[in-house]
Amino acid sequence: MSQNETHHFQAEIQQLLDIVIHSLYTDKEIFVRELISNAADACEKLRFNQSSGTAVYQSEIAPGISVTTDDKAGTITITDTGLGMTHGELVENLGTIAHSGTKAFLKQLTEDKKPDVGLIGQFGVGFYSAFMVAKKVTVLSRSFAPDETGWQWTSEGMGGYELAPAAELPRGTKITLELKDDAKDFAQAATVERIIQRYSSFVPFPIELNSKRLNTVQAIWARNKNEIKEEEYNEFYTFVGHDHEKPLFRLHFSADAPLAIQALLFVPPRNFETLGMGRMDSEVNLYCRKILIQAKAKGLFPEWLRFLKGVVDSEDLPLNISRETMQDTSLMQKLNKVLTSRFLKFLDEQAEKDAAAYEKFYTEYQRFLKEGVVTDFTHKEALGKLLRFESSTLDAGKLTSLADYVKRMPSEQKEIYCLLAANRAAAEASPYFEVFRERKFEVLFFYDAWDEFVMEHLHTFDGKPLKLAEKADLNLAAKKDGALSEDAAKALAQWLKETLGDKVGEVRVSQRLVESPAVIVDADKFMTANMRRLMKAMKQDGPETAARHDFEINPAHPIISRLDAMRQKDAALASSVAEQILDNARVAAGLLEDPRAMLTRLNQLLEKMLTKD
Ligand code: ADP
Ligand code: MG
Repeated sequence: MSQNETHHFQAEIQQLLDIVIHSLYTDKEIFVRELISNAADACEKLRFNQSSGTAVYQSEIAPGISVTTDDKAGTITITDTGLGMTHGELVENLGTIAHSGTKAFLKQLTEDKKPDVGLIGQFGVGFYSAFMVAKKVTVLSRSFAPDETGWQWTSEGMGGYELAPAAELPRGTKITLELKDDAKDFAQAATVERIIQRYSSFVPFPIELNSKRLNTVQAIWARNKNEIKEEEYNEFYTFVGHDHEKPLFRLHFSADAPLAIQALLFVPPRNFETLGMGRMDSEVNLYCRKILIQAKAKGLFPEWLRFLKGVVDSEDLPLNISRETMQDTSLMQKLNKVLTSRFLKFLDEQAEKDAAAYEKFYTEYQRFLKEGVVTDFTHKEALGKLLRFESSTLDAGKLTSLADYVKRMPSEQKEIYCLLAANRAAAEASPYFEVFRERKFEVLFFYDAWDEFVMEHLHTFDGKPLKLAEKADLNLAAKKDGALSEDAAKALAQWLKETLGDKVGEVRVSQRLVESPAVIVDADKFMTANMRRLMKAMKQDGPETAARHDFEINPAHPIISRLDAMRQKDAALASSVAEQILDNARVAAGLLEDPRAMLTRLNQLLEKMLTKD
């Protein structure tokens, strides 16, 4: 047998190499990750053999990985003390296409005459990625089987490879790349260090670069929860979150079905968007068996969970998928659904376990949950449970869930009432609130202008419709003493409509006012003044919808009954007062944009009052 054997690559390998070299990866640095992940696999397999009692050559040498760069020679070398390869394995693994990913890739090639470069990216071709950057690759390998010897495999890519015996090799594999002229940067320690830190920080075997240990943070997400100390979690958060404070929440979980997932997620202590730092980007990285597949993985979580940081590791990402881009969108969607539901469940449990901690979270992140209600139909119900509001029956500053509100509802109450206001004092003073106070119906106070959208989208909770207080169809329990008679009130309403003209829609006799003389009611069932303001702020296209406001008067209020008397005596004064009452109601509803005309009139009225004898 001759010492040097020349082998031809399988025809498909030639074809594959041509594509790898010319068009496969947009990012050449990927080869570092591929070779290190092969080295890690080899270490893993060695450990498995060792633990199952198989005889191992040089069993005193621990599995590990070392990388060296030589910028003078223009080389990079990746060495592992893993299980190594025999002559047969070198031929099989590096000269033919045995593994399924590459096979699938080639099948695709034969089906489509012209391969779509985007499609190519879906398949991993691991080892061959070395030829993107190397003009020559030398593999020295010595199997762990005690009676084997070492072999040297060399190739310049196209053509084939040579195999020759290599005596006295330590166990494992050493791969040296002679870099192409345009890839010499990969012989720079700093460049390689950055790449290893990026993709291989959590490889479970020590990685040294030019004798310096690189991966010191453990992939704790893959460990048993009970064995992990609080400090380890916090240290890990510092690493993935680039944050020196402690996280607000942490969720560490694993699942087997429908997908094998290990996830470690953190909620940062502060919402950076409110700090004026612009829109956040999800910082959850996607791993497959501890090797980074995608940093800040797009689509792993819905947009409204973009504040999360951490790691998701799934073995179910098919190994043939290129680790460069995760393009299998249906798999991503499945992951997204499982992860999102799990996280929402976690929040719900957290709220139950420690309400104070949950409220802290809520104060910081409520806008995101609300964004979810409005934009994400799938998780609407789970999100509804997580909302919190101030309420008329609780002290200021205390929050209630919709579920607790529903528990407190008297049996005759059928709807959940919500009142939009700038703050608590305004809510309690609102004319819309009067009937609720009187009837002892609880009202949720919405201080965030977006809450109305949230309410519209949520629509119902626990089967109960959510209703704005101003649109509620509620009457006072009993008629008040001293009120105008029904006929007198109706006649006054008609007179008011004639006097105020187009300034109002309908004028009605109110059944729900207690302390206010009158109130503005939006005539549009689906629009409120708040909604119109928001639309205007968002500059929505289309004609601006002119608001039509109905006007309701309180027949039991002294101003109203005296107005009725005055209109017989002094029609001019009465109509001036009527306009003032309307403007007052507009102020109460936050609808008076220009108060100048109102002030002029008010001054005239004051003057008249002071000159009275
Ligand atoms: P994959 O890793 O997806 O199987 P690769 O092209 O990366 O595909 O590697 C092909 C095969 O070559 C591997 O399955 C493995 O059997 C073998 N191999 C590659 N690198 C090493 C190594 N450092 N040590 C031992 N075997 C290796
Ligand atoms: Mg590989």
